[in-house]
Amino acid sequence: MDKVKLIRDDGLRTDGRKADELRPLKIEANVLHRADGSAYVEWGYNKVLAAVYGPRETHPRYAQKMDRGIVQCRYNMAPFSVSERRRPGPDRRSIEISKVTAEAFDRAVLTEKFPRASVDIYIEVLEANAGTRCAGIIAAAVAMADAGIPMRDMVAACAAGKVAGKIVVDLDKEEDNLGQADVPIAIMPRTGEILLLQMDGHLTATEFEQVLDMATEACKRIGAIQREALLNRYSTKPDAVKEGVATLDRTASPDGGDGNGK
Ligand code: UDP
Repeated sequence: MDKVKLIRDDGLRTDGRKADELRPLKIEANVLHRADGSAYVEWGYNKVLAAVYGPRETHPRYAQKMDRGIVQCRYNMAPFSVSERRRPGPDRRSIEISKVTAEAFDRAVLTEKFPRASVDIYIEVLEANAGTRCAGIIAAAVAMADAGIPMRDMVAACAAGKVAGKIVVDLDKEEDNLGQADVPIAIMPRTGEILLLQMDGHLTATEFEQVLDMATEACKRIGAIQREALLNRYSTKPDAVKEGVATLDRTASPDGGDGNGK
């Protein structure tokens, strides 16, 4: 098999992106009637849904904290989300992603405002093409805001890494598989405070700084898109929703409610 050229002769990546260019990102807030908050994200070929419930009674009870609330998360990949069918149910990877996602939100949410209760995040990956933990965090953050959960700031996430010796942002599946390093981060865009940082592969200290800068800058752009998704949902009439953002008809709710689920 021919070796895949991750950086083309013209300096662009296999999908034609520049080093600092994100895959197309589309976010829609409030897509589920029964959840307290929800969001749907399409990012390149990733399709991810997030639902948020709470603050509500903590299950399991032993996880309850008397002086503050907690954030729990379940990240799940659908069996049909990847080219080779995934065995349904939790595996080591999804348990890890659930844990780091809950920890990231635990730092952003004002948990002291709801002692003993929990906020539960469910992330369902419908299609995966690398970057799903970041896509899940992006969707979950919009769903949290949609649910009215008090947070210190929006939470944005993006990876940067190294492919064919070049520092690039938002790696796709091919780059993730064949590249040299992948560093997903989650931050609060206003302060730049890091809520999640993981690393797969090897980088020099200088490269690591470059990767961190590139991912941070991308998170700030993503934070603006997240805010826009919320504004699109709540501050305009459906016919004024900006071009390029999918709209669903929510005039009729299965519960006979106002279509907003609230
Ligand atoms: N993947 C897969 N099967 C799995 C887990 C992952 O095909 O059981 C693919 C999927 O496209 C995923 C990518 O590998 O997005 C990269 O996975 P990684 O663990 O790096 O997490 P992600 O980049 O999605 O956060």
